[in-house]
Amino acid sequence: MTLWNTTDGRELLIRLLDELDTRLKADPPDEMFAVDNVSVAWPNILNCLRKTIASGDEMRCHAMVQQLATSDTPLMLFAHQFGVLRNFVIKQALSHTSIDDARQAMAMFEEMEESFAAIYLRVFLDRLGKRNHLRLTHIRSLSDKNLLSYFESHLEWMTRLVDAVRTRHAGSMPELDPTRCQFGAWLNGDGERLIRDPNHVSDIRELHDAMHHLVVEVSSILDHPRASGPIYALLKKAETHSLELGNEISLLNNVVIMSVYNKDPLTGFLTRRFLDRVLVNQMEVAKATEVSFSIILFDLDHFKNVNDTYGHQIGDCVLEHVAGIVRDTLRQSDLVFRYGGEEFLLVAPSTTLAQAHLLADKLRRSIAAKPLAHDPPLSVTASFGVVAVSPHTYDNVDTRMVHEVIANCDANLYAAKRLGRNRVV
Ligand code: GH3
Ligand code: MG
Ligand code: MG
Repeated sequence: MTLWNTTDGRELLIRLLDELDTRLKADPPDEMFAVDNVSVAWPNILNCLRKTIASGDEMRCHAMVQQLATSDTPLMLFAHQFGVLRNFVIKQALSHTSIDDARQAMAMFEEMEESFAAIYLRVFLDRLGKRNHLRLTHIRSLSDKNLLSYFESHLEWMTRLVDAVRTRHAGSMPELDPTRCQFGAWLNGDGERLIRDPNHVSDIRELHDAMHHLVVEVSSILDHPRASGPIYALLKKAETHSLELGNEISLLNNVVIMSVYNKDPLTGFLTRRFLDRVLVNQMEVAKATEVSFSIILFDLDHFKNVNDTYGHQIGDCVLEHVAGIVRDTLRQSDLVFRYGGEEFLLVAPSTTLAQAHLLADKLRRSIAAKPLAHDPPLSVTASFGVVAVSPHTYDNVDTRMVHEVIANCDANLYAAKRLGRNRVV
């Protein structure tokens, strides 16, 4: 039995809602004003319900809930307002009619709540599924597959989790033990050796365990088909884990690149030979994880003077010295290329323009503040150009785009030089 297909129920509810409407018009309660400018305010829900029942078309109401769900109105907010309306209606029923009517009205409200929660859940699942699909598509096109295949299997796992919840079929659940999956084995073996920072390893382990634990939780509530509330909360958690794992992809990917690709012998930084490939890769990762990254290009100021005054060999020592400062300032996942003779390009994943400016300025100050130990001590300064790359500004990645980004960064570096050097633009 649903609200809209029993004449009795429909008549009862429309009578109660009409009475409530008349009474509220004569004597509006305080709550009516407290929620006045929120579109989900219960008087709006009341209106929608009345129209729905009068027309016998339940889609009207569903359309409203669908719209709320797709516009990211939290279910909690809607549920609260709907609860306020329900309490008014029940009170109305109790004061004017029999206890049976109140009971029936209550049952109908429960039915409606159930169907609204289901609409919310569907919208949420569709979104989660689409987002993961998008991420998978981009990650599949990454050039470096070795490490990413492990993550890929986890993102597929997330998609399977969505399916499992959607169909509420425990049999379609993937494995539950975080130490026995492919990624867990990698993390406890090669991963631990490859990632220098033990805190980073434990962060990833925690995240990975949490994802597995989530499946245990989800599978434990699958037997309760009416439990839309807890499932909704669990899916929120799943989405958060999925996004965090996406960020780890970009960090670990760079750790691997640093350990595998060729390095310049003087500075220990990556050679320019792989720059295009790495940047294409980074743009794909940014798209897949929906997180911006930044590029910082910097060039030593008046470096020709150093060579002319002290000789090329001392010039080389200064370059090594600056490289050491840069290495000490950066995260393990930041990639540095020796872009030219005394020009460096830094790729900072998961970094906004403002954060990149702060990072560049920190580097600038460190370089200026630490002269090379020499007689006399040898100070150098550097000028910086910064750009951020937002995944929302492109759909597909190609090397032409990569060159455009570098050209923009170079223009900023040139501006920094023109404005007097030893600065960030
Ligand atoms: P500015 O950048 O401030 O405009 O002036 P600059 O004198 O640094 O000019 P520019 O960047 O054009 O010059 C680069 C100089 O850096 C040229 C060369 O003498 C020196 N250089 C480039 N690569 C190396 C290297 O590997 N070792 C040494 N010792 N010097 C290098
Ligand atoms: Mg220079
Ligand atoms: Mg130069």
